[in-house]
Amino acid sequence: MSKLQQTFRLGKIKGIPIGVHFTWGIAFVLITMSLIGQFGEQHPGWSPVIRSAIGLVTSLLFFTSVILHELAHSAVALSRGIPVKSITLFVFGGISEVTREASTALSEFLIAVVGPLASLAIAGGFALMARSFPAEWTVAVAPCKWLATVNFWLALFNLIPGFPLDGGRVFRSILWAFKRDYEKATRISTTIGKTIAYGFIFLGAWITFGTNDGLVSGLWIVFIGWFLLNAAQQNVVQLDLRNALNGITAGDVMSRECHTVPRYLSLQDFVDDYLLKTGRRCYVVTDDHRVLGIITPREVSAVPRQDWGHVSIHAAMTPLERLKWISPQEPASRVLERMDAENVNQLLVMEDGRLLGLVARDGLLSRIQTFLTFQGKSG
Ligand SMILES: [Zn+2]
Repeated sequence: MSKLQQTFRLGKIKGIPIGVHFTWGIAFVLITMSLIGQFGEQHPGWSPVIRSAIGLVTSLLFFTSVILHELAHSAVALSRGIPVKSITLFVFGGISEVTREASTALSEFLIAVVGPLASLAIAGGFALMARSFPAEWTVAVAPCKWLATVNFWLALFNLIPGFPLDGGRVFRSILWAFKRDYEKATRISTTIGKTIAYGFIFLGAWITFGTNDGLVSGLWIVFIGWFLLNAAQQNVVQLDLRNALNGITAGDVMSRECHTVPRYLSLQDFVDDYLLKTGRRCYVVTDDHRVLGIITPREVSAVPRQDWGHVSIHAAMTPLERLKWISPQEPASRVLERMDAENVNQLLVMEDGRLLGLVARDGLLSRIQTFLTFQGKSG
């Protein structure tokens, strides 16, 4: 799923950054307002302050439940060896961003199914709490009942068998195990996902225009459908990319033209004699054929211009120990995942301590493009 920008970091749980996207504010305000209104109608005896406080606390507990749902996915992903990059709350709920897809059907099944199960467990917990309080404690019973109901619906909604919902992933993992064909399983579950998304859009449109008081909830359903449709389409793009990269290794896509520069050169000389003259962007800094690090325009621009005359490239470069490297046999699809996971734009390709070349993000994309064009021509 695409990365969410404009995210506010809340903190970390078990090393996983938890954040809220700015669109989450919309959902939070709408749900809190609707809760305050709902509680006011059901419990006219509550003062406006109590009503607002309970509405706010219930809304916060609801979003805590959504985070717990995502944490359940993350915990299983981590236990199956898949690193989790972040959890983000946004307008339609939560997203766990993992650095790569599950490599087996069983992993995918477990990671997907645990989210709705967590929501069901949370619903059960709140239902028990609602029962354990005396009925006259409405300020405790009402929020627990609402949280039990909403978490129950959250579990059911997520179990709808259309990609990218959890149910769609569960469905895909079963197909994948059954047919032993990841691609076919993905295409089928994505088609179902799209059909369900169109269903949401038409249902939302019908509620918006066909009923008298359904404007807000109708539009909300249209947006959910639109979001699901986009996510399903994104998935097909990812699959095509994966296919395009199939059989290509890091060695195929690396550039061997990584030229070397001696370490004592000043930044000014490096800019004048190398960067500006050749137009190449990446250089390996060496000391008697020993690789020390790399230098690119990015490292140069980190040093103030007036210091370029007396700062050496050795001082400004990114040292070898901070560079990430891969072996030439590594599949190209892993290269992209590694770049995303490590948040870098180039990886060194090394074998037996020897530098063979460098893969840069832009070089990789042009290679993929060539492949896709070729594929298109051959029909
Ligand atoms: Zn989920």
